[in-house]
Amino acid sequence: MDSAAPLAGSLAIVRTVAELRARVRIWRAGGERVGLVPTMGALHDGHLSLVARAQEDCDRVVVTLFVNPKQFGPNEDFARYPRDESADAAKLGAAGADLLYAPDVAMMYGDGFATTVTVVGLTDGMEGAVRPGHFAGVATVVAKLLNQAGADDAYFGEKDYQQLAVIRRLADDLDIATRIHGVPTVREADGLALSSRNAYLTNDQRKIAPALQRGLAAAAAALAGGAAVQSTLDAACAAILKAGFDAVDYVELRDAYTLASLSTLTRPARLLAAARLGKTRLLDNLAVDPR
Ligand code: AMP
Repeated sequence: MDSAAPLAGSLAIVRTVAELRARVRIWRAGGERVGLVPTMGALHDGHLSLVARAQEDCDRVVVTLFVNPKQFGPNEDFARYPRDESADAAKLGAAGADLLYAPDVAMMYGDGFATTVTVVGLTDGMEGAVRPGHFAGVATVVAKLLNQAGADDAYFGEKDYQQLAVIRRLADDLDIATRIHGVPTVREADGLALSSRNAYLTNDQRKIAPALQRGLAAAAAALAGGAAVQSTLDAACAAILKAGFDAVDYVELRDAYTLASLSTLTRPARLLAAARLGKTRLLDNLAVDPR
C-alpha cells in the first residue's frame, strides 16, 4: 500500500503512477469496478456530475487533477488557469469520490518524454483550427491517464464535444480497454454551460454569456423545423454577436458521431460553437435531430 493520507470523507490523494496503480489493482482484485474522471481541477457541478455518473456504474471512483501544459498554446491561459487543490479535494470528499490522483508535470512528462498521440480528421476544424496542437496535448495526456489508471470506465463531458469524439477514437484505435462514456452538459439556471473558465467573466460579461446557448437553441429549433442550414448558422452567429460577444470563432453543424460537416440535416447532428467575451473563450453545443 502507499502512504496516502485520507482527507475529507474517505478521499485519499496520490501523486505517483505507482500509488495510483497499487490502489486500482487492489480494488479490481477484490472484484470492484473502477471509474476514472479526468479533470484539470477548479471543480464545479459539471465535474461532479461526472463523478456522480461514475458512482452509478462503479464501486470506486478515481478523479484526476492535472493542468496539462501540453494542451495550452503559447498565448493561452496555462499560467492563470484557476488552481485550488484543497477546495477541489474538499468537494470530492463531500461527493464521496475514493481517490484523487494529482501528479505534477515531472511525473507526467519526465526527462526525455518524446511521444505525442495525434488523432487526425476529427481534430480538423473547430477547436482544432482555433487551437493548433491542443488536441495532440489532450490525446497524449488522456492516453497516459487511461493507461496509468487501468480503470474499467472513464467519464468525459459532452460540454467538450469534439474532445469527447477524439477520446473515443483514440481509445478505440489504441485498444485501450477502458470504456469511454459521455455525460450531458450541466448548466446554470440561465442556460450557461458550467466551465472553470466562467470564473474569468466580469459581471457584465456573465450577463451576456448565456446568449451563446440561446443562439444555439434557437438555431437547433429552426433546423429541426426544416430551416436551411447555412442561413441558420449565419443567423445564430449574428445573434450571438448582437447579444454582446466580441467574436464568434465558429458555429457549425456536424454529424453527431463522425463530426463530418453537414449542409443538410439528414441524420443525428450536433450544433457546436465557440465565442469570445474579452479574452475568455466559451464553448457550447447542442443535439439536433432531423424531423
Ligand atoms: P476540464 O477540467 O475543463 O478539463 O473538464 C474535465 C471534464 O469535465 C471534461 O470531460 C469536461 O468535458 C467535463 N465538463 C466540463 N464542464 C462540464 C459541464 N458543464 N457539464 C458536464 N461536464 C463538464
